[in-house]
Amino acid sequence: MSLRDLPSVDRLLGAEGAGELIAAYGRPLTVQALRASLDSARLAIQEGQDPPKDAELISRSGETLQSWLLPSLRPVINATGVIIHTNLGRAPLSASAQRAISEVASGYSSLEYDLRQGSRGSRDVHAEDLLVRLTGAESALVVNNNAAAVLLVLTALAHAREVLVSRTQLIEIGGGFRIPQILEQSGAILREVGTTNRTHLKDFTEAITNETALILRAHHSNFKIVGFSTEPSLAELIGVGQTHDLPVLDDLGSGALLDTALFGLGHEPMVQESVREGAPLVAFSGDKLIGGPQAGILVGEKTLLDQLRKHPMARAVRPDKMCLAGLSATLNHFLRDEATETIPVWVMISATEAVLKQRADQWAKELGSGELIQGRSTVGGGSLPEETLPTWLLALDVDQPNAFAERLRNSDPPIIARVENDRVVIDPRTVLPDQEEPLLRGVQAALEA
Ligand SMILES: *Cc1c(COP(=O)(O)O)cnc(C)c1O
Repeated sequence: MSLRDLPSVDRLLGAEGAGELIAAYGRPLTVQALRASLDSARLAIQEGQDPPKDAELISRSGETLQSWLLPSLRPVINATGVIIHTNLGRAPLSASAQRAISEVASGYSSLEYDLRQGSRGSRDVHAEDLLVRLTGAESALVVNNNAAAVLLVLTALAHAREVLVSRTQLIEIGGGFRIPQILEQSGAILREVGTTNRTHLKDFTEAITNETALILRAHHSNFKIVGFSTEPSLAELIGVGQTHDLPVLDDLGSGALLDTALFGLGHEPMVQESVREGAPLVAFSGDKLIGGPQAGILVGEKTLLDQLRKHPMARAVRPDKMCLAGLSATLNHFLRDEATETIPVWVMISATEAVLKQRADQWAKELGSGELIQGRSTVGGGSLPEETLPTWLLALDVDQPNAFAERLRNSDPPIIARVENDRVVIDPRTVLPDQEEPLLRGVQAALEA
């Protein structure tokens, strides 16, 4: 047997089954896949194996083409009970946010067109009025994520000047967002204030010089300082800012519009509270506790926001039409006071134990397997560290829980579950209603495998 026994690409293109590959994937990509199959056959022959038949080469090429085109970004079933799961795409969108996005995506829209005047308009108007009405702020600006919102503020208002930050707030959020690095990128100079566990108002007043441009307050988000610790309140910082004519940026991270304490959780700082206390600028994410698409939202004083709007960086971090459509539809739910019925993140936060138990119980019956146990869900998304919500889990006793969890990940759609105390557990809180059927199908298949 030798390499000469291998067919040419041209011969393979005429072989049975090649026409179907060309019809499905186009000729250029099919040729690439056939070449790849021939290359690996050549290597195998050199290692002493027999040359594959033409049909074998065609079928391998078909598999290659399938794997090349399989999207790596795919919908999954989140059975982990972590509501705002950053690795799983943060907030699932409400039905009306999905509809709004699909409508502007599929055609032309009034993105930057003033329909009344029949002339050029601004993309800034779409979410601004809604945000102003919801938060009580003078003005609002949407950018493509909260990291960009903070970067824009620091660049536009503090470039080459000093920003005061308490040492208790030099935080790192998941995904490489670090306050000192963002500051560096903006060209602003970090002036650390106080100590790791205790910072007093006097530390801020003593740090202010002619070089000071801004005071930054960052929400701890995903960690807690306990014990002997203190920080000035937002109101105190705003007071100092007013005395010295310095803007204060309150980076809330999650930015809740509803009070999480009403749902048995700790109190996550609310945007309306920061606005009411008089924060000149408040920054938060669109896809954490707002439950909308990825976005960074700034609300606050109009003169400051107008300065930001005019800065060249605002153009580089502007949101696209799908973001604005989805965000506006999501904000509408809060205005209509229907967030807990419509926005998935809030539906999940407000789900009662009775409803969760009933769902898990129904699954156990349909599967004829698994035991109901009490467990805890978490909010995630860098909010409410250590806070959990009581839930009911479906616990599956399987021989090798990690191998079983892997089988679930290989389902279509993939199912992401937790392994706890040598059992695979499934939390109904984060499984969307229309995913129940594929979830049960996937679990059933994994149990039978
Ligand atoms: C999450 C978070 C950010 C980053 O927000 P993204 O929308 O992910 O860019 C910034 N600051 C704080 C305090 C956060 O919690």
